[in-house]
Amino acid sequence: MDTPSFRCRSCGSSAGEVVLDLGRQPSWDRMPPVAQPLPDPSHLLRMWWCAACGLAQLIEDAGSVEEIPGIEPQAMLDQTELSITRMGDEGLLRPAATVIEFGSPHGGSWLPRLAGHGLVEQTGAGSADIVIDVYGLLHEPDQEVSLQAKAEALAPGGTLVVQLHSFATMLRTGQWYDLRHGHFAYWSVPALDGALRTHGLGVHRAWWYPMAGGTVLLTATRSPAPDAATLALIESERDAGVCDVTRVRRLQDDAASAGRLREWLTAERSAGRLVLGYGAASRSVPLVCRAGIDTGLLPAIADASPAKQGKRMPGTDIPIISPAELVARSPDRVLLFLAGLADEVRGALPDIEEAGGRWVVLDPEPRAIEAATAAETSTLCRPMTL
Ligand SMILES: [Zn+2]
Repeated sequence: MDTPSFRCRSCGSSAGEVVLDLGRQPSWDRMPPVAQPLPDPSHLLRMWWCAACGLAQLIEDAGSVEEIPGIEPQAMLDQTELSITRMGDEGLLRPAATVIEFGSPHGGSWLPRLAGHGLVEQTGAGSADIVIDVYGLLHEPDQEVSLQAKAEALAPGGTLVVQLHSFATMLRTGQWYDLRHGHFAYWSVPALDGALRTHGLGVHRAWWYPMAGGTVLLTATRSPAPDAATLALIESERDAGVCDVTRVRRLQDDAASAGRLREWLTAERSAGRLVLGYGAASRSVPLVCRAGIDTGLLPAIADASPAKQGKRMPGTDIPIISPAELVARSPDRVLLFLAGLADEVRGALPDIEEAGGRWVVLDPEPRAIEAATAAETSTLCRPMTL
């Protein structure tokens, strides 16, 4: 597809192509009240892959996106704890070291925890020993400007710490629905390393986490010396195809899973089973819209965020209900849009399975989770955070 005027948000090259076209999609960040009539405004949602630097990126800017901070899942909190522990292992938590945080709607602020280790926030002008970006980079329309700002914020000898959802995960898992309005950049570690090097930085350490199919914590310095594990991680991302346009193009084939989700829901309805959803998250929106699902196939989606309850999913008439109402309706199947939450929601809502219901994850095909045994259930019961 021709996009002659588009230039890479990082390197400025026009050498690239559309690798994923999801057509018109509503803004996922605006959950309308249930009573607000359809249709919702929609915008083209397309991913372009830069052949020059390897950055997968959003073409259209749908205007201001106001992300609704969701309830942080336990997995996110656990990941933050582990990331800060790793910073300590790397000798980055020196008392009185200065820190600048580039925030985002995801993952919360790390500053209170870092202050607990004696780090001091650098306010106003000036650079810092530690510069942190937790899922912030992807929200920046101009990646070149954003990376430059981070490089300039770094004091001599400083370390940039970035937590990101790697593009390699999209390829490995077929999670095409991670493409969304307002998320402009889908970096892989090899591509980001290349871009950082144009700003005098390079990836020094990288660690992989299982959250949301695969996230990465990395550090970058002006004198990077990646260890064997970091080099192996970078190599594994290359093996996943992040630098291979023929592999990247297959994202469009992956998007066909939306049609198979619709077929599964249709079959469940024909079999007389009540299917409800869980997780009115950002990534649920393109999936629901691409599959053309409405209340006829999925009567409601539950979400623990009170800000979303009483609203409906963008682009369709599916209302968002509370977890308590989900349980009260005794669904035969609960379609879990966030597979990483499976342990947590099963522990928090044991009534679903005790009433004979089953949780279903997208793998990417719908797959029912076998009911937990009593022993498993006890280990699943963790403090309720949803
Ligand atoms: Zn580029």
